[in-house]
Amino acid sequence: MPDTMTPEQRSHIMSCIHSNDTKPEVLVRSYLFRLGFRFRKHDRRLPGKPDVVLPRYRTVIFINGCFWHAHEGCANYRLPRTNTEWWRQKLARNVARDQSHREELTRQGWHVITIWECELTRARRAETLAGLARRIVAGGNAPPPRGLAQE
Ligand SMILES: [Zn+2]
Repeated sequence: MPDTMTPEQRSHIMSCIHSNDTKPEVLVRSYLFRLGFRFRKHDRRLPGKPDVVLPRYRTVIFINGCFWHAHEGCANYRLPRTNTEWWRQKLARNVARDQSHREELTRQGWHVITIWECELTRARRAETLAGLARRIVAGGNAPPPRGLAQE
C-alpha cells in the first residue's frame, strides 16, 4: 500500500477489504474507483436505476440482495415461513421487473452485469471484484483504466 495516503484513506480502504458489513454497493464502487473507473450512481434515466453506470464501457451493474431479488439456488434466498404465498408473489414480481430492465437495457446497447450480495462475502469478494473489472473492460471499446493496466 502506498505511503501517500492519509490515515483516513488507508483505514477506509482497509475497512472495505476486511469488514463484513460494508454495504455491497460501497464495496464495488470503492474497488472500481481505486482502479480508475469512473461512473455514475443510480442513473434515473435508465431502466431499473442501475447501481453503477460506466458510460465509457457502455456497461451497467446491478448489485442485488439475494433475498429481495430471489437469487435462485442461493442459501440467502429462503421464502419466509409466514405469508409464504404473499412473499412468493412479491419476489416473483421483483424478478420479472429485473428481467424486463435487463432486456430494455440490452436493447439500448448496454452490457448488463449483475453481482449478487453472496459473491461479496469476505471469502469470495477478491475473486468477484477482479472478475468484474475484467468483464467491464471486455465489454467496451475503451482501454482499461490506469489501475487495471498496471496490474
Ligand atoms: Zn446469493
